[in-house]
Amino acid sequence: MPAVVSGVFGRVAYPLLRAVAGVNPLVVYHHIVSDEPVPHVERLYGFRSIAEFTRDIETVVRDYRPISVQELLACRAAGEPAPAGSVLVSFDDGLRECADVIAPILQAKGVPGCFFVNSAFVGNAAMAYDLQKGLLADRVTTTSLSRTAESQLRRLLGAADLGPVDLDGAILSVPYASRSLLEEIAAVVDVDFGAYLSDVKPYMDHDQVRGLVAVGHAVGAHSVDHPRYSDLTLDEQLAQTLDSVRFVRTNFDVDYGVFAFPSSDDGVGSAFFAALAGTGEVDLCFGNQGILDDAVDMVLQRTTMEKTSMPAEAILGKAYTRRLYRKVVGRSVVARP
Ligand SMILES: [Zn+2]
Repeated sequence: MPAVVSGVFGRVAYPLLRAVAGVNPLVVYHHIVSDEPVPHVERLYGFRSIAEFTRDIETVVRDYRPISVQELLACRAAGEPAPAGSVLVSFDDGLRECADVIAPILQAKGVPGCFFVNSAFVGNAAMAYDLQKGLLADRVTTTSLSRTAESQLRRLLGAADLGPVDLDGAILSVPYASRSLLEEIAAVVDVDFGAYLSDVKPYMDHDQVRGLVAVGHAVGAHSVDHPRYSDLTLDEQLAQTLDSVRFVRTNFDVDYGVFAFPSSDDGVGSAFFAALAGTGEVDLCFGNQGILDDAVDMVLQRTTMEKTSMPAEAILGKAYTRRLYRKVVGRSVVARP
């Protein structure tokens, strides 16, 4: 985005939009913060540098009242609104940088975070299929493949008519249901996911998550193995959600159940939420469709702070603008089929 547009959103419009929108609580999310290249996420989403993230948190502290999940749940249980101007800062996927980089910055600024983890990946027991795709896409674009390897990949991907530049795109398009294909692709391009997990340790281990809880951060569930929920049956959606929530409650000894949808909550229906509410095990769910309201009371929508190097004011200014536009056209509430 050109600097002038970012400036308009950031310095001029943002304070006004924030006041007009009156969103409470504002819920934001990130995945990772790093100054280093991160091969397994580089091709999936942009992320904040340490300096950018530190400025995000300074903006949040200046303009909002940071609230913890625990405090927010207490307000909801009492039937009270969150304190005016609340912001909840959340992080998806349980990557090791949450403990190594993000938590120390939050603690220095006095901001409680909520970290959503996948039960299959804590401790680097396995790797999400989308992170596998990210790593493979990075590999095929940063190394030169032999002609044999390239034709094997094209056969595996059924992408014989794609040009060379599209091999990584084809890998990134592999759906959750075909994820076993990724092991075959890995063998061709000499990637060993098991070795990568033990060498790089992309995820937090149990002790790191316990460490976050011990200093007051919250931990929530993010499904078992990060499927896209619109690809699942209702029973599968419920199993992924409840198994991961129970995992978090049991392993990290928390007395609340919060859940953030992996990839997207788009298309998840009201029957899912009715069944979930009936279990009494999940207090609150978090979507990722922006600063919008949700037709279902137990869902709070969140907005991303990543994908750009714009300052927080410009990111939020743009997100508030989108909310106002959606209000004008009558689409500011996420509908549930
Ligand atoms: Zn995720």
